Amino acid sequence: MTTLAPCCTACYRPLPAWDLDRLACPGCQERASGRLAELPGLLAALSPVPVRSGGLVAVHGPAGSRPPIALHAVDLSAEVPALLDSWARDWASVGGHDLPERWLPNAAAGPALWLRWRLDWACRQHPAVEEALREIGHAWSAVRSAALGERAERRVAVVCPCGERLRVGVSTDAATCGGCGTRWSRGDLLGMPLAQRSAA
Ligand SMILES: [Zn+2]
Ligand SMILES: [Zn+2]
Repeated sequence: MTTLAPCCTACYRPLPAWDLDRLACPGCQERASGRLAELPGLLAALSPVPVRSGGLVAVHGPAGSRPPIALHAVDLSAEVPALLDSWARDWASVGGHDLPERWLPNAAAGPALWLRWRLDWACRQHPAVEEALREIGHAWSAVRSAALGERAERRVAVVCPCGERLRVGVSTDAATCGGCGTRWSRGDLLGMPLAQRSAA
């Protein structure tokens, strides 16, 4: 008869001999705790509203003009807090924990902290903890790469000869003007004048 060492349900590594009473190992718990701690800050760095100092873009257009919004940032800013909220609700019902009436200080940091406080319980007792750890991991990598990517690539607006603006970044190889439909090469784009921020 073979005896299998009890393994972590998330990473499948054997559980430490002195701490077998768990579903997820201390390493997975520690990693998830770090990710939950980082998520609110990373999400704030994704803010599609470029108003904070040291923000990603500083656009001060005239009334009615709208700064360009990174759609994936908007999606993540809504989806990740919703994911954390849904796990908090799940853990509350599975473990009989109390949930606050609303998340403070905000929709991302509130549930992230709540989950961190109950992570040890979940790693020991929640039957689906590996699913939560996996989803938290995916959310963390997506938000992190979006936040780092935006910082790495600063985009500027240039003006096509037709008057339309085009947004280009260092990695832009070519772009099609939305005004005249011309397909411009990287060299053409870099030779165009920068858009005046105050121009209509
Ligand atoms: Zn593990
Ligand atoms: Zn054009």
